[in-house]
Amino acid sequence: METAALTEQDREEFRRQLLSWFRLNARDLPWRQTRDPYRIWVSEVMLQQTRVATVIARYNQFIQRFPSLVSLALAREDEVLTLWSGLGYYRRARLLHSAAQLLVNEHGGSLPHTSQELRRLPGVGDYTAAAIASIARNEAVAVVDGNVERVLTRVLGKAAVRRAGLPAQLKETAGWLLDPTAPGTFNQAMMELGATVCLPHAPQCADCPVRQFCATKGEHVVAPRKQIVSRQTHYALVKKPAEEGSKRVAVLLAQRPDSASQMPGMWELPAIAAPESSEPVLRIRHAITNTNFYVEVFSLKPEEFLGPRHEKAMERHDWVVDSKLSEVPLTGLARKILMRLDVMAKPREVRSGKALPGREGDFL
Ligand code: SF4
Repeated sequence: METAALTEQDREEFRRQLLSWFRLNARDLPWRQTRDPYRIWVSEVMLQQTRVATVIARYNQFIQRFPSLVSLALAREDEVLTLWSGLGYYRRARLLHSAAQLLVNEHGGSLPHTSQELRRLPGVGDYTAAAIASIARNEAVAVVDGNVERVLTRVLGKAAVRRAGLPAQLKETAGWLLDPTAPGTFNQAMMELGATVCLPHAPQCADCPVRQFCATKGEHVVAPRKQIVSRQTHYALVKKPAEEGSKRVAVLLAQRPDSASQMPGMWELPAIAAPESSEPVLRIRHAITNTNFYVEVFSLKPEEFLGPRHEKAMERHDWVVDSKLSEVPLTGLARKILMRLDVMAKPREVRSGKALPGREGDFL
């Protein structure tokens, strides 16, 4: 097969240019130092919808605590969620955990070898299965995530994409382009190109190793942007001394209902109606997918909060000592608030982390 834009000869050159660019420019990321399918699986799940800079710290902590599939399978869910805290999309962590348990209980504790078998695991879609199988097992299967889709759409050009229709054409082209002698490296190189050069709004075409094969050089099919919704929310920061005479403080947290559609069972600051006569101690904006939350946090004394007005909110609550907050599965917003207000220590990586583009995958 040749595409409307590329000949077979172009393909050879495309592979060569891309792979030699990747050898020189690949970011040094912890999951690139292993071929262990379990570790690659963890990294791929974390990278879906989360920035690389955020994932690096979380990945290292997660692998330190759960170095193997078996150790993850044996862990309690709340411990897994705690280590996931800050990554968001907690359903990913629950599915990863339940898939690990399934593998240990029914498949001898190791990951299947082929992308087709991997695809049957809870939470593993085409993208994740292809990434694990190609990187860890050298299977010649192409990965098509958001980054690869963007690169291919631009390389092929609008006309070719329209003629053939998305996404079938992209999958087919990705498979045709894939270098069967180094499928894992080729897939990573395509994703890296999309994440660092062929950027969504400002492609760096002058630095692109496959520029000569690109039909658009920056012009591309742009998906319509989702409408952004704004919401206002208010939370209470309620503190008390952890023990009499102790410098440590305990913070009141509320647990989200198990039936909640988002982040069930996670812990957060208690939500309140805005107090009429006090100023917030913190105002922040927190974005989740297409919603901007404008958040105000009010500092309340325990006796102010524990009145009858808040009885319902108190049904699932607990006091947590500040030194133990990092062991609780907190929502990303709760972590952000507690760190901004210096109630919870910031990890070193968060203090100095530079945001890098992440990977858009097939998850959720
Ligand atoms: S030339 Fe530009 S638009 Fe084309 S693939 Fe490279 S970075 Fe993307």
